[in-house]
Amino acid sequence: MSRATDFEAIIVGAGFGGMGAAIELKRQGVERLTILEREDDLGGTWHVNHYPGLAVDIASVTYSYSFEPNPSWSRLFAPGAELKKYAEHVADKYDLRRHMEFGVVVASASWDDDADVWTVRTDDGRALTSRYLVTATGFLSQPYTPDFPGIDSFAGEIIHTTAWRDGYDFTGKKAAVIGTGATAVQLIPEIARTARRLTVFQRTPIWVVPKVDFPIPRPVRKLFAAVPVTQRAARAVNTSLLEMLMVFGVLHYRQAKPGNQLAALLAKAHLRTQVRDAATRRQLTPSYDFGCKRPTFSNSYFRAFNRDDVDLQTSSIVRVEPDGIVVDGPDGDELKVEVDTLVLATGFNLWDVNFPAFTITGRNGRDLGKWWREGRFQAYEGITVPEFPNFLTLNSPYSYSGLSYFTTIEGQMRHMARLFGELRRRGRSRFEVTAEANEKFLDDATRRLGDSVFYAGDCSRSRSYYFNQHGEATLLRPQSTLSTLREMDSFPLDDYTYA
Ligand code: NAP
Repeated sequence: MSRATDFEAIIVGAGFGGMGAAIELKRQGVERLTILEREDDLGGTWHVNHYPGLAVDIASVTYSYSFEPNPSWSRLFAPGAELKKYAEHVADKYDLRRHMEFGVVVASASWDDDADVWTVRTDDGRALTSRYLVTATGFLSQPYTPDFPGIDSFAGEIIHTTAWRDGYDFTGKKAAVIGTGATAVQLIPEIARTARRLTVFQRTPIWVVPKVDFPIPRPVRKLFAAVPVTQRAARAVNTSLLEMLMVFGVLHYRQAKPGNQLAALLAKAHLRTQVRDAATRRQLTPSYDFGCKRPTFSNSYFRAFNRDDVDLQTSSIVRVEPDGIVVDGPDGDELKVEVDTLVLATGFNLWDVNFPAFTITGRNGRDLGKWWREGRFQAYEGITVPEFPNFLTLNSPYSYSGLSYFTTIEGQMRHMARLFGELRRRGRSRFEVTAEANEKFLDDATRRLGDSVFYAGDCSRSRSYYFNQHGEATLLRPQSTLSTLREMDSFPLDDYTYA
């Protein structure tokens, strides 16, 4: 039996995913909604991250909602602050701010199968109820700090890249950066510029290709604003290039290995032209296939290692001491690197604490996180889960489609449109994906992934977050974005039950 609820829908997360979901729900007539956000403002990743050098790594014409183009991007790859501004613009234009509540940490959500109601409990002791629950908590939103022995004894500053201290001055500092992922690649050249000494601790090298980036001339911006079709054309060209990279380089590795190898050759040539020292080049060269982990672009990262005041340290970290980091030395001894500012560019924990980001309990007491971890990570079309009625999980296994997160969001918005349209048509308010449809989607994804670089290539030394703790690559949806979008528009309606 249905009962009154505080909201029709509760969305958790006010980043681009949560805002996209809110825009779609409002289009579907779901107006009584709230967006709960852990941080003190909207924008998700682009609110949390503000370290020096932050920029998008997907050209901005593509890294934005297709229905809300922004003609004012200053560069091909816009700096992080412009993304935050764009998020604010979207919130204002689509009247989302009045739905948002900041500083709310969701602790759990549970489904009451008799009342058809979600109850969302917050850390401050509230229990909010809704008909629908949407989680949009991000993929890279639970910062990871490795438990290095002795780290608590460190006497200097420790800064995780997600908790950047704006204006922190590295002048005269003996800095260290741990990690060489996409974040470190952007940050290292910035720190190298001012620090007295910088040591980069690398465990796994990253594939880096040249970045073709430039300011977008004012006349072009004016053209984008006056004749939007020109920006749409630019988007189409860029998205097609990315798509080729993804489909041929990553998903169809088995059939298109030479394309993947070409990308690796390009990255190696880039390294060769940028780093003078041959031993350093060898250390910076990955020993896994291109695409096993997310590659990145930079014209300044490799060059930083030519500087006399920048060292690359590839030995294992043994412990942290108050004034430095101790690593394994070359002859079985130990070596200490003196450090007074320790930057942790150590990324995020996806699979242990983020899928999902809080406890979610469905029908029959099914605990989503437990079910995923003890069985297999799965979500029908990367958005719904059997035994979790009226629940949409935007950051879920096999949900990430294409290279731009906006492709993922917009595919999910289309799925929501079709699903809520069908609910309306039937005069129903409850949906649940069938176990059979979910299994079929999982089987298809598993089969398709067999051709990808993750299984057909050599990823054994990549330590990629695309792989979960069971060694399965369950993050990316192994289909072209076109076929994903088509499926989101046309999935069989009887893959769901309605009540
Ligand atoms: P990441 O790719 O997960 O990199 C974390 C780094 O920390 C890795 O080099 C990792 O080494 C290292 N690390 C972790 N634990 C360690 C330990 N115990 N000892 C030594 N090293 C350790 O995280 P990220 O760089 O923050 O990037 C995450 C993702 O965010 C990117 O892939 C990208 O999708 C996105 N991103 C995008 C942009 C953008 O331009 N839009 C910028 C930054 C990030 P191992 O590889 O050996 O584990």
